[in-house]
Amino acid sequence: MVRVMKVVKKKKLKPVYIKTLKIIGIILLVVLGLFLFYLKQINDLTRLGYSKIASRNILFSFKKDYVMSLGENKTLNKAFESKDYVEDNLEFYRKIKYVDHKNLIKNINKLLEVGYSPNDINIIITHGSDDAVERFSKREKIKYLEEFFSVSYAKLDNYDRYVNYSMETGEDEDLTVLYVNLDLDLNDYENSVEVKDFSLTMLVNKHRHLNEDFEPNDLVKIDSDYASSDDLYCSRLALNAFKKMSEAASKEGYSIIINSAYRSYQDQVDLSDLYLRTYGQNYVDKYVAKPGYSEHQTGLAFDIGSLNTNVFANSKEYVWMKDNAHKYGFIERFQKKYESITGFRSEPWHYRYVGVDVATAIHDEDMTLEEYYMINLDK
Ligand code: ZN
Repeated sequence: MVRVMKVVKKKKLKPVYIKTLKIIGIILLVVLGLFLFYLKQINDLTRLGYSKIASRNILFSFKKDYVMSLGENKTLNKAFESKDYVEDNLEFYRKIKYVDHKNLIKNINKLLEVGYSPNDINIIITHGSDDAVERFSKREKIKYLEEFFSVSYAKLDNYDRYVNYSMETGEDEDLTVLYVNLDLDLNDYENSVEVKDFSLTMLVNKHRHLNEDFEPNDLVKIDSDYASSDDLYCSRLALNAFKKMSEAASKEGYSIIINSAYRSYQDQVDLSDLYLRTYGQNYVDKYVAKPGYSEHQTGLAFDIGSLNTNVFANSKEYVWMKDNAHKYGFIERFQKKYESITGFRSEPWHYRYVGVDVATAIHDEDMTLEEYYMINLDK
């Protein structure tokens, strides 16, 4: 009886509430459905390689099918992430190879405005930093873009100097780019770059100097067996390599010795003064590197002598070094045929330690450290 009463007493919801609940239920289902659909779409794009932000922007600009048909494209990803995205440029973005520049899309927009094709833009953005591309995008359109930028290490910022240099000298684009990048279109010591990458391959010459305070961090005294005087110092790595080379030479009947090695900035000042008093200003300007501009400050350069003759260039040791020095990581740094690139007159006795791999590449390609550096290391 009690149970029956309970059933009878149970309140019924009014029809209007039921209807409201139904509507809410349907709305929730639709929202859930839409949300799942949205997640699926985002998921499709992220699986293809697009970021969450890019995927969301692709969906909301109704470009999903377009993007899906193209597959992964890093430039498009960057475009859809960027506030600089311009829908009219979409077809161009996809044709431009991605480079990791902060303002890539902004710069592409500007370059398109100037009138460059996607192919031109590919060339431009791979030859300079973000800032260099931005500067370049403010120039009027350049007609013969490929003339200099077909050289892989040509720099956007040097464009005007390439044009001037090639007009003045008539050199082809390869030499023009090399010479200008090395600042050989400037006077010696003019606007010189301070060297900061203190590695085995650091490039020090009349356009790239070391700070007054620079000193190698692994300086060691050279054992008297290997040196012509007992107060010579150099980098430990270079010395170890020299010892190996000297032992190999000695086994074949040759005797090489170190006549000069590390020279501090102050040593170079003193040396210049000495030569100035002895031979005069002209001689110093021509033959003595200014303090900071001598490779000897790196601790990686040696002036090598033969124990058999005073003139190293005439020694059988020099001939042996030509064929073997690179196997121990050394290069003959200032050859006669390369005077116009190195900026130093021929010094057959001056060797530079760069490590076996680089020395071998330089030897095999028959090039200078300047060229090797520009082609492979200059960033
Ligand atoms: Zn030297």
